[in-house]
Parts: sequence; C-alpha cells; structure tokens
Amino acid sequence: MSKYDYDLFVIGAGSGGVRAARLAASLGKKVAVAEEYRAGGTCVIRGCVPKKYLVYGAAFGKAIKESSGYGWTVKGAKFDWASLRGEIQTEVSRLSSIYENVLDKNGADLFKERAEFTGPHALRLTKSGREITAKHILIATGGRPWSPEIPGSQYTITSDDAFHLDALPKRIMVIGGGYIACEFAGIFSGLGAKTTQVYRGDKLLRGFDDDVRSAVDNGQRLNRIDVKYGQSPLSIKKIGGGFKVTFEDGFQVATDLVMMATGRVPNTYGLGLEKAGVKMNDKGAVIVNEFSKTNKAHIYAVGDVTDRVNLTPVAIREGMAFVETVYKNNPTAYDHTDIASAVFTQPPVGSVGLSETDARAKHKGVKIYTTDFRPMKNLLSASQHRCFMKMITAGKKERVVGLHIVGDYAGEIIQAAAIAVKAGLTKADFDATCAVHPTLAEELVTL
Ligand code: NDP
Repeated sequence: MSKYDYDLFVIGAGSGGVRAARLAASLGKKVAVAEEYRAGGTCVIRGCVPKKYLVYGAAFGKAIKESSGYGWTVKGAKFDWASLRGEIQTEVSRLSSIYENVLDKNGADLFKERAEFTGPHALRLTKSGREITAKHILIATGGRPWSPEIPGSQYTITSDDAFHLDALPKRIMVIGGGYIACEFAGIFSGLGAKTTQVYRGDKLLRGFDDDVRSAVDNGQRLNRIDVKYGQSPLSIKKIGGGFKVTFEDGFQVATDLVMMATGRVPNTYGLGLEKAGVKMNDKGAVIVNEFSKTNKAHIYAVGDVTDRVNLTPVAIREGMAFVETVYKNNPTAYDHTDIASAVFTQPPVGSVGLSETDARAKHKGVKIYTTDFRPMKNLLSASQHRCFMKMITAGKKERVVGLHIVGDYAGEIIQAAAIAVKAGLTKADFDATCAVHPTLAEELVTL
C-alpha cells in the first residue's frame, strides 16, 4: 500500500498534462488530474484550435474575392460572426470532452477544480476543499495572456476573449508584433474589420529571420492591415461606442476594440509553489532541468509553465519524456533543437532551425539561398501575395541549419522539410530530391 493517495497528480489538463497522465495511467499508475477550467488547455480551448478555425474562416473571404479570376461569380456573399463563433465553440466542446474521455478510459481521475500545493507532496482542491497527496506531481498549468497596465487597459481584450466577442468590430487595433498579434490582425482583417496593428519594435516577429519578418510585413499590408511601428500605447479612453488610444509620442488612433497581444506569462500565480519548495525564475516560470525535473526530485513541470519553447507539440513531447523518465526507467531529455513552427498569418510562416543572424553567430561558412516569387495560383486570382523561401547552410558540406518559408501552405511544407533539417541533411540532399511539379514546395529542391 502506498502512503500516498495517487502515484501521480497532474495539475492542468492541457496538452502536456493530459498526455503524461494518460500514458502514466495506461502503465497502471494511479493518476489524478486537476483542471480549473476545461479539459484541453490553451491549445484546444483558447489557442491553436479555435484560432486555426478563425484563420480558415478568414481565408474563405479571400478565396471568394479571388475566385473571380477563376471564372466564379459569387453574389451576396456575407459573413456571419455569430455563426462561425458558435460552430467553433461546438467543436471546442467536442474536443474538450475527448480529452476528458481519454483520461477516463485510461483510468485517471479528473477533478474539475483548481489544485494548489499545501506541501511538497500535498495539494488542496480549492472548490471541494479536498486534500490529496501524491508520490509524484507534474505541474502543467500552461500560461496566460499578459498585458501592460495602462490607464484604460480594463477596456482591452486578449486572445482569450477574442473567441467570444458578441460581434465582430468594424475597427480593431491589435497591439503587439509576436505570433498572436500577427495571427489575429490577419484574422480580423480577413473577416472584414478595419485593422491596425501597432508594434513597439521596427519589424514584426522579433526572433524570426530578418527576411521572414520583412515578408510578413509585406503580407500584412497586402491584407490591408495598417501596421504601425515604434509605438507603445500610453492610455485608452472610451469615446462614444469606441476608444481613443494614445501612444507615447502623442500619436492617437480611434478604434472600436483594442486587443492586447503583448505576450504570455506562466500560470504559477497562487499555485503555492513556495509551500512545496519549488523554485521559479524571475518571470514566474518553473525552473526545470533537461528531464523537466524541478529542484524537488518528485516534482516535474512541462509545457508553457516552464517557458522553454511554448508550443503544444513541445509540451506533449515533454510530457512523454517525463513518463519515460519517471515510469519506464529510461531517462529522456526532450531535444529542443530544430523545432519547426508556423505562424498562421495569411500567407503563413513556416520555420525551422536558425535565422541567418543566429547561423552566422554559431557557424562558419554560412551560405544563403533564397527565392521570392508570385505563386502561379495568384497570377489568375490577381493576388499580389508572394512566396518567399530561404535556406541557410553551414560548413563545407552545406548542412541545412535553417529553412524558412512565407507562403501558402508554409506550415504544411515545413513540417515535412523539418525532418530533413532535424536529420542533418545537406543542400546536396535537397538537390538530389526530385521536384513535385507544379507545387510551391518544389522550390526547396531547386534553390
Ligand atoms: P510574443 O512574445 O510572441 O509577442 C509579444 C509581443 O508583445 C511582442 O511583439 C512584444 O514586443 C510585445 N510587447 C511586449 N510587451 C509590450 C508592451 N509593454 N507594450 C507593447 N508591446 C509589448 O507573445 P505572444 O503572446 O504573441 O505568443 C506567446 C507564445 O505563444 C509564442 O511565443 C509562441 O511560443 C506561442 N504561440 C504559438 C503560436 C503558433 O505556433 N502558431 C500561435 C500563438 C502563440 P517585443 O518584440 O519588442 O518584445
């Protein structure tokens, strides 16, 4: 008989937590999961999944407009926000219940309430007041949007709220230049809102390859997004039915809605980590080693709460590595290099490996191959959107250390190409691969 109630207690039923809980339970471990909101976490409930549906929704509008070049006449096309919002929420609920069922089927208990540490092995469920002990504890509480506190910030929304708007605003201002800001500016503009994106820096998507950033800027502008640089909001005032946003240099913009997309922070507030003796960094992220182990030998953390690479598939892999390490006697450190990601702007970004700047700092003999063209589909549709590709190689053998695409299907293409980059293949390997014609992706083997 164990002296603990559970072998494993997972805090947070998001991507990382549920994967770890399911796998541990399938190995016969006694597992419980606590979730204060809805099973599925950020990705399913208020992130990747509903966001991608909004991206698809926006893309239909563009396709309808561009279809005339292909002989179509579409009369009376209208967009109904409430309808799309409802469909998305139905799908989100379906997925959330799948997450619950997966836990149930594998024999894990799901507590639909918040859990907080009361000691190194002890937790309290805050609604029922129930006290629970566990041999191992996995912190998988994710992150939440953060926005600067300025006068009027109470009027703003974040990405969490964007999925539930009563109506689509006529005008919206999106503040920020990261993943979420770029994606939502594209969504709102694509759905018909007059969109302004305001970024404090000088080019969107800091951290991405410089040429990619320029291509995204170009794409946003072609999507009629008014991108303004070098501005941070100072105050937001209610005027009539909308708002007036004043920026640091006195510049003012009137809008109907302001969305802050100014970053996310780890969800550790009030978790009682100090009672368990778990260390956090100055951003509130749980500090872990390469095995996702905290400074306490029996407490682990995976996903956004650790602020390593904040992506759903990474959290899942970290959760799987945790199970290998703790329950299969197979210490597994998830390798965080060459993780591909996409930014679902229109067109999207697909990126894996190093930017040119990082490659030059890290490697000798860096070579750059680029192509920039108007895809054939856009010639008949009259779309001015382009496709940009960049391959970065290093060393005499020309190993591909970075691959970046801004163009239709970039997310899909980069997923496959990332296998080659992760495997350490060279430019010659790409060149030796026969093209699939006519595609966008064939450019990768003819650079
Ligand atoms: P990011 O960190 O990507 O972007 C935050 C943006 O807000 C930056 O442009 C930043 O500027 C700006 N900012 C920060 N503070 C202020 C401020 N006080 N005033 C004005 N602007 C400010 O965060 P996101 O929230 O967009 O995304 C969080 C993470 O979620 C991403 O890093 C990614 O890992 C993940 N994600 C992934 C997606 C995908 O895979 N498609 C989609 C969405 C999110 P600066 O650049 O100057 O710091």
